[in-house]
Amino acid sequence: MSKFSLQGRTALVTGGARGCGLAFARGLAEAGANVAIFDVIDPDATFENIAKDFGIRTAFYKVDVSSQESLEHGFAEFQKDFDNAIDICVPCAGINRHLPFLEFTYKEHHDLVSINVLGLYFTAQLAAKQMIANGTKHGSIVLVASMASHIAVRSQLCSAYCGTKGAVRSMCPAIAKELAEYGIRVNSVSPGYVRTEMTAAFSHLIPSWEADAMNGRIAEPEDIMGACVFLASDASAYMTGQDIVVDGGVTRW
Ligand code: NAD
Repeated sequence: MSKFSLQGRTALVTGGARGCGLAFARGLAEAGANVAIFDVIDPDATFENIAKDFGIRTAFYKVDVSSQESLEHGFAEFQKDFDNAIDICVPCAGINRHLPFLEFTYKEHHDLVSINVLGLYFTAQLAAKQMIANGTKHGSIVLVASMASHIAVRSQLCSAYCGTKGAVRSMCPAIAKELAEYGIRVNSVSPGYVRTEMTAAFSHLIPSWEADAMNGRIAEPEDIMGACVFLASDASAYMTGQDIVVDGGVTRW
């Protein structure tokens, strides 16, 4: 079997109802994994087709990753339905807020941290505990960070968001070190500008963001899917604690 194959594996993607999370769910399914998604909104209509397009199993759970109760309840339901199987976890649920640093409030900042940092961290923790309990030989956690953890993204007014993504990227090697003894790998993906609802909300702040990328365009969600599938698969078996930046070269010039 190809080292890129995820056949027979079970994946969880948070924030999988649309945007990058939906693309990750589709990519993992295309490589053969069964995929469960957690989200606070109903999934995009195309989610329904994934199971039949790729002959795998999908499920959606309404879960707010920033609530311990909702996350733990949703995870227990997911595990009951999937016979306690989990090999891949992609905590992707995230939000952004655009305010000048001097105007950020505790409430706005708290919302960002609750979802982007705590939600991601405890999703990964639940997944890791279950991977250890079920003894998977293919445990892989792919944290969704951002190009915004590498650079001060132009005109975005998102200092708090950058901080949350920096937290994701710096917790990655620390968690990787602790989980290495269980054979579980932990890496992150840092997308650049991706065309999603999140970026639509601030596109007016960056009138010429295509020009920031070497290839002159912003990414579609499918453009960042491959890095996630690669990190989830045995093709990346020697990688852990690393970050892959998929940004059309924005951070490199
Ligand atoms: P999006 O807004 O299209 O999708 C985010 C998804 O997360 C939505 O389905 C939303 O309902 C879900 N979500 C939000 N709060 C949640 C919660 N409390 N519990 C469960 N689900 C919740 O955004 P996107 O652009 O697809 O972003 C996905 C991830 O990629 C985020 O972590 C984001 O920070 C990251 N990212 C996006 C870009 C980009 O340019 N779009 C760049 C770098 C990183």
